[in-house]
Amino acid sequence: MSTTASEALFARAKQVSPGGVNSPVRAFRAVGGTPRFMASGSGAWLTDADGNRFVDLVGSWGPMLLGHAHPEVVEAVTAAVARGTSFGTPAEPEVLLAEEIVGRTPVERVRMVSSGTEATMSAIRLARGFTGRDRVVKFSGCYHGHVDALLAEAGSGVVTLGIPGTPGVPAHVTADTIVLPYNDPAAVDAAFEQYGDQIACVITEAAAGNMGVVPPQPGFNAHLSRVCAEHGALFITDEVMTGFRAARSGFWEIDGATEGWQPDLMTFGKVMGGGFPAAAFGGRAEIMDLLAPVGPVYQAGTLSGNPVATTAGLTTLRLATPEVYERLAATSGQVQKLVTDALAEAGVPHVLQSAGTMFSVFWGVSTPVIDFAGAQAQDTAAYTAFFHAMLDAGVYLPPSAYEAWFLSAAHDPEVDSEPLSRLAEALPAAARA
Ligand code: PMP
Repeated sequence: MSTTASEALFARAKQVSPGGVNSPVRAFRAVGGTPRFMASGSGAWLTDADGNRFVDLVGSWGPMLLGHAHPEVVEAVTAAVARGTSFGTPAEPEVLLAEEIVGRTPVERVRMVSSGTEATMSAIRLARGFTGRDRVVKFSGCYHGHVDALLAEAGSGVVTLGIPGTPGVPAHVTADTIVLPYNDPAAVDAAFEQYGDQIACVITEAAAGNMGVVPPQPGFNAHLSRVCAEHGALFITDEVMTGFRAARSGFWEIDGATEGWQPDLMTFGKVMGGGFPAAAFGGRAEIMDLLAPVGPVYQAGTLSGNPVATTAGLTTLRLATPEVYERLAATSGQVQKLVTDALAEAGVPHVLQSAGTMFSVFWGVSTPVIDFAGAQAQDTAAYTAFFHAMLDAGVYLPPSAYEAWFLSAAHDPEVDSEPLSRLAEALPAAARA
């Protein structure tokens, strides 16, 4: 497989951008080799600058629920662009997208922003403003974007690159961040016993997906919701990754909706932007109305609610019907079976975990992973060997063992089976690593 064009672009990129990328995990640091510079995408497939084609199991890290360049999304976006790309005024598409989000989830009001990072950053500011308290509880291995206060023991690229803390984040900024082990209700109780009247909020991924997929143990999120309510703290579920992906509304639909609890605030991103920079945070009206211009908590954005981005998100969500989620669940199940059968056949110890339609594989472990320590016990060398064998076979997996695998409604294991069938062939490489 020729990589000449990607290599040339990477060399040029490194001259003008740190590490040659605009987001660290894309640089293939953890897995080595040349990152593929993608030139186009269509449905389940990506084509790189050398003309190589890959079945895409990253989906832009989650947004591409319908696959790349879905004709109806492209048409709607093209029409929106022709009407003008940004007005700096309110416009109809953002109202329609907000209505769609409010219709699907338990939030009553949403404020749109441009990235998941902004969504969690703003949600925490609002929680602090609402409660008049400073402390924030987060869980190790959960990633909420590169918000200063939340870059403590974070997952995603922070763990992939083995970065212990982040220079540039002053100690006093994380001094109010309490980091607890995931899925450990006793640790939560102990923290609230000590700091209960100082905690503004608990933020958690609705189902952790940034240390590999680690779903909450049954009752864990309900416990967080209850403890927060008892102590006057807000419960924030970060659904940037899981929202409109794990299920139609998000992971809450599988968890809170059935167990009978609601988060105070939620954050969204990825799918709701349809591949454009759009994200949001939302919650109960009495909390959200503390935001400017109604209330005193300031938050703003030049491109927030951008008409092109919100059109892409709205069109994506409207096309994401219950049938789409059924199909996604079926496809996800098929691919999960392909992987587990092949791994079992090759005698590679592994644990496959899922949260709704999302899943990931932990290599070299044999018991369920419930927290960050368990996730870090995996054999990343085996994943690296597997990753490269699959890349050579035409399957684009996340270039890190700590990430979820994302499918789209455009994936069809029948049609894409030629590269996917190489899963079995790629496994001996992993077994040898
Ligand atoms: N929260 C979660 C759960 C995420 O997975 C991510 C991104 N992977 C973020 C927040 C940050 O989103 P963004 O990269 O758009 O800033």
